[in-house]
Amino acid sequence: KMYDWLAGKSNLKPSRYLRAKDAKKSFPMLKAKGLRGGVLYYDGQFDDARMNVTIAMTAIQQGATVLNHVEVTDLRKENSRLVGATVRDRFTGEAFPVKAKVVVNATGPFCDHIRHMDDPQAPKMLSASSGIHIVLDKRFSPPATGLLIPKTEDGRVLFLLPWLGHTLVGTTDNPAKIESNLKPTEEDIQYILRHIEQYFDVPVSRQDVLSAWSGLRPLVSNPKASDTAGLSRDHIVHVSDSGLLTVTGGKWTTYRKMALDAVDHAVKVGKLSPLGPSRSEVVPLMGAVGYSEDLPKRLQKEFGLAEDVAQHLAKAYGALAREVATLAREGYGQRLADAHPYLEAEVLYGIRHEMGYTVTDVLARRTRLAFLDIGSARRALPRVLEIMGDELGWDPARRREEEQKFEDYLSDLPDFAKPQENGAEARAARSA
Ligand SMILES: Cc1cc2nc3c(=O)[nH]c(=O)nc-3n(C[C@H](O)[C@H](O)[C@H](O)COP(=O)(O)OP(=O)(O)OC[C@H]3O[C@@H](n4cnc5c(N)ncnc54)[C@H](O)[C@@H]3O)c2cc1C
Repeated sequence: KMYDWLAGKSNLKPSRYLRAKDAKKSFPMLKAKGLRGGVLYYDGQFDDARMNVTIAMTAIQQGATVLNHVEVTDLRKENSRLVGATVRDRFTGEAFPVKAKVVVNATGPFCDHIRHMDDPQAPKMLSASSGIHIVLDKRFSPPATGLLIPKTEDGRVLFLLPWLGHTLVGTTDNPAKIESNLKPTEEDIQYILRHIEQYFDVPVSRQDVLSAWSGLRPLVSNPKASDTAGLSRDHIVHVSDSGLLTVTGGKWTTYRKMALDAVDHAVKVGKLSPLGPSRSEVVPLMGAVGYSEDLPKRLQKEFGLAEDVAQHLAKAYGALAREVATLAREGYGQRLADAHPYLEAEVLYGIRHEMGYTVTDVLARRTRLAFLDIGSARRALPRVLEIMGDELGWDPARRREEEQKFEDYLSDLPDFAKPQENGAEARAARSA
């Protein structure tokens, strides 16, 4: 009820208490033994990679210049004030300066690294906790209901959610070193599997895990805290003596408020003259204009797409799904992997319209295939290489390099290192 109250007018639907038998009906996989009841509440979900790309593309549409695969290696000062940064192109290795009236450090868990470029003595602002997600087949959850256990026996949160045609299960919350190529450990995966068995009536084995990944949560430090679950998830804005504006510690849910606060501070720090108050609350993200609930049906009718493909394209691209469907009609209409709705057309669209430059960009950050099913992503690799290579004019050496980089990206994952028969494709083939 507190949740309803906090959601106010934005509440999707009111929550209600469920008796044990109704809880079991809503989520049949739940163990009946020891079950006393539950609370049914409504929440939204999204594909964070699609959201991230869409925000970047919308920023470009609004006049921003966006660079990917480019990193800040140093900050530039004049008379002790920041005047820009030195950045390095990760492909060419070329470094070049960028002038700026205000430098905003929005590097999440890595923000102290940038702050130390500004002031090597700056005290650390953040610690990080790592959390993993694993992906299981859709049969592990009902199609439109998730389940959250707010406090497991060891005080963690456990959830099973229907997500992108699969079941997403998470998560862990462990103090972590801040590093960029974080990978889930076998121990983390086993921890989640053990907890599924404890609360759910579905036998689950390591072979059912299609994919797993780990992420860092930026947490505003409290030196007295011994457990990262108790640290603040709220964002803070900090301005250093030289004018470095750091915004960090927030969540996806609060991203727009984080941006608003950061820009308001930037106006003051840089003595900027904004044309007016922030409009981001009313600026639709790309693909929002022209979207309607019946878009999947219209795509099916107009382009002859399969139902799951039309649903996926509408969800992932909004009204821009028509552009992807047009590419599909022009000869890129095959699925990248059986039993998944991703199309060859999305590879081309990712390169042409969403700044996709590498195979990993396309398979992990434009489509979600590598996150959902590593085996299927591997099997899709040759065709993705072919489409990207032809479109971008890659020579055989570059194709081999891309293949190796994608393999490196996947290979640290404990049991996903070799092609194996645990993907949806393999199961589809078995049941055919
Ligand atoms: C397991 C897990 C579950 C979560 N669940 C939720 C949830 O349900 N709801 C929710 O709202 N939030 C959730 N979060 C939190 C959310 O994902 C993060 O808080 C959020 O991504 C932080 O956003 P950010 O932009 O500050 O940092 P990030 O998303 O980490 O982005 C920082 C960016 O800075 C870049 N960068 C770093 N160094 C440099 C450099 N030198 N030069 C250029 N770029 C650089 C990085 O490459 C990265 O792209 C979850 C996080 C985890 C790990």
